Order: sequence, then structure tokens, then C-alpha cells
Amino acid sequence: MTGMAEFVVVGASLAGAKAVETLRAEGFAGRITLIGAETERPYERPPLSKGYLQGSQERDKAFVHEPGWYREHDVDLILGLPVTALDPHAHTVTVDRVDRIGYDKLLLATGSRPRVLDLPGSDNLGLRYLRTLADADALRAAFRPGANVVVVGGGWIGLETAAAAIGHGCTVTLIEREAAPPLARVLGAEVGEIFQALHESHGVRVLRDSTVREFGGLSGRLTHLVLDDNLEIPADVAVIGVGIAPNVELASAAGLLVDDGIVTDASMRTSDPDIYAAGDVASSLNPLLGKRIRVEHWANARNGGPAAARAMLGRDVVYDRLPYFFSDQYDLGMEYAGYVEPDGYDRVVFRGDVAGREFLAFWTRERRVLAGMNVNVWDVQDDIQRLVRAGYAGRSVDLDRLADPAVALADLTG
Ligand code: NAP
Repeated sequence: MTGMAEFVVVGASLAGAKAVETLRAEGFAGRITLIGAETERPYERPPLSKGYLQGSQERDKAFVHEPGWYREHDVDLILGLPVTALDPHAHTVTVDRVDRIGYDKLLLATGSRPRVLDLPGSDNLGLRYLRTLADADALRAAFRPGANVVVVGGGWIGLETAAAAIGHGCTVTLIEREAAPPLARVLGAEVGEIFQALHESHGVRVLRDSTVREFGGLSGRLTHLVLDDNLEIPADVAVIGVGIAPNVELASAAGLLVDDGIVTDASMRTSDPDIYAAGDVASSLNPLLGKRIRVEHWANARNGGPAAARAMLGRDVVYDRLPYFFSDQYDLGMEYAGYVEPDGYDRVVFRGDVAGREFLAFWTRERRVLAGMNVNVWDVQDDIQRLVRAGYAGRSVDLDRLADPAVALADLTG
């Protein structure tokens, strides 16, 4: 690659910002343009539903870099303008329908957007979603003591937002459409029940098997929700956390291979050899798992952006990190590593004090560990990840020893 090469990164969020940082750190001297549709410079999202939303962390802490960093590193940062077209043949992207920028290599880190609920009343009563820093600002302002907050969706946004709202003195109802407990799709019913119990112990009313029929209000202000069974729930604030959809339109329109996300190989390269994708828009081959997956978590943006950057520089890259995420809810902190489909395990093995919420959980299939989680127990992620890697390599463990805190985790893979 010559020093005059031009690299363009579309999507000024964590994956994009970390990719740009890596390009410079690895000595790339060519031109770098980082383009984002939002007006904020790149920021990380975990504080939006955790520290910043709870009120324990300053807003500025969310940003990936200091404001001057981009100029200092000779990165052209274009904010507040969407990229509206991509022409892989001409090697150009079009910003806001007008300006064309040429690239030698391109990274698509366009992220995702919240799925919206389209129900009577959902257009004009100020429903809240939580994806952007501006969304988090608005929620913080709305979480006043005594406010009735209804959270729709028992996923990560739903649970972390419910915990933050309780922390601000709100009355919280969480609506989960499945008969299974919240988070059951990711963690299974066994661990989902533990999270539901945690929230109930802090006063959240959890309604399962419940679907919203309509939102009701007066003079443009939300006052209540009506559920399918006619139950009416008073609401000053409704937060919708029903999942996200990857922003693949630019890639699809340009003819790149898209299947749920933008399809990439293990080096984050798309079906076009000069275009890469990273973050939660990318559906990347993970050689460890032996399949393509799209991972919608912070760590995947944090690590996938740099991996793509190295691949853009022509390095040999095999991105085989285990999916990893963490969560903080009330006084519970957890980390999770691995990957398991809802029906992909035959047993959950617990180790430690489940009732006291200080434990490890392992999802196993035929005595192979496919995922592991530590709850209020720290410095065990390396051991957990070693067990999961061994599991994916086909090695089984003794499940009684796995459950026994007296047996060191490292001894199980040794
Ligand atoms: P999510 O974790 O995918 O959960 C979405 C939830 O909404 C699921 O429980 C889903 O239930 C439910 N749902 C879907 N459609 C629904 C509908 N029409 N009515 C009611 N419920 C519905 O997504 P999220 O909570 O919205 O979070 C957005 C993204 O941010 C996710 O990718 C998440 O991983 C990420 N995030 C991660 C963290 C973390 O890592 N700690 C924190 C916050 C956000 P079903 O199971 O029935 O589909």
C-alpha cells in the first residue's frame, strides 16, 4: 500500500473509530475519512444504558476519543451527514447525495437501528427508544422519581433500562411477550428466571406472555398502555427495546452479499475485495464456531474494527474472538463468553452461590462447554474462555467437577 492511499470508513461509532485509530497506530500514512450520520463524535454505547443512564457516569466518558484527536491524527471526520450511495466499481461513496469521495479500501461500520413498534398510538405519544446518546439524554430527563415507566421488551435494553429507572425512583413495569422469562432467548429459561427474580426483588413488575395492543394518551402525552388481555397500565414513559435491525441498505444497493448482515469472511472482507465490514452490521465467519454470526455487542465493535483495519492494510487476519458481553443491573455485574442457540444446550451447570447471586453458569452440550457466564465473580473470564474454546474444539469436561468450586477451572482443561 502506498502512502497516498485513501481509506474511507462509513459509520462513526465504536467499530469505525477503533478502526481508524488502528490504521494510524499501524503506520498508515494515507488519507482517512470517517463519516457518520450523527452529529456526535464517536461514542461507546454501554454507558447509555448503564453508568450514564443511572447517573453515575459523566456524559463525556462515553466518547471514544477527545474532540481534538481526529485532527491530531489527520483523520477527516465528517459528522451529521449520511452516506447515501456506494459505487464499488468507481470506488466512491456519496455523502448526503452530493459529495463523492473516492476510496482504495472501504470499511462499512454502519451499525443497526432499533426495531420500531407500529401500534395504535405509537406515532405521536413520545415513545422512547434507546440507541443514541441523544436517546439516553432524553431518558435521563424522563426518569423522575415517581414516574410510571413501562419497558416493552425483556432483552438487554429492557433490563438495563428497568434497573436504571428503579435507581431513579420510578415505578417500573416490564412487558415480555414470551411465556419464558426475560433474556431466555440468549441465556435460556434457567438463567432468565434468575434475572427476573433480581428485577422483582427491586420492585419491577414483570408481565410475561404479554403483548401491547395500543398506547393511549391525552393531548399528545402518553398516559397508559393497553395489553392484549385488556389490562391497562398507567405510563408516563414507555421505553421500547424490541431488538435492532442492521443497516445493510447501502451494501445491498451496491450489490454486496447480504444475509441478515453484510457477509464477510474471517478477515472481515465482504464479497467485494476492497470493502470490509465490522461491528453489528457484519455477519462474519467465525472459524472457531465454524459458522457466520452477527454479534450485536460492544466487544465485537471494539475488537472487530481494529481487525478489519489490519486486514485493510493487507495483514493476515483471522477474527476468531469468542462473542463476549457484560451487563450491570443493580448490584449484579456479569460477563458472558461463548455462543449457544436457544435449543443448543442440554444442561446448564451452576458453580457457586446462585441464591446469593455470586456464581458461574455454563451452558453445555454432551459435556462440552459452549458458553459461560460469571455473575459477581471476577477474574475468571480467561478460564471461562479457555473452557469454551476447548468445548468448541470437541473436548468434554466432567460436569460434577465443573460444578464444584473446589476444583480450579484451569484444571478442567488441563
Ligand atoms: P434484544 O436483546 O435482542 O432483545 C429484544 C427483546 O424484545 C427480546 O426479548 C424480544 O423477544 C423482544 N421483542 C421483539 N419483538 C417484540 C415485540 N414486537 N413486542 C415485544 N417484545 C418484542 O434487543 P434490545 O434489548 O432491544 O437491545 C438492542 C441491542 O443492543 C441488542 O443487540 C443488544 O444485544 C444490545 N445491547 C447489549 C447490551 C449488553 O451487552 N449488555 C446492553 C444493551 C443493549 P423475543 O425473544 O421473543 O424475540
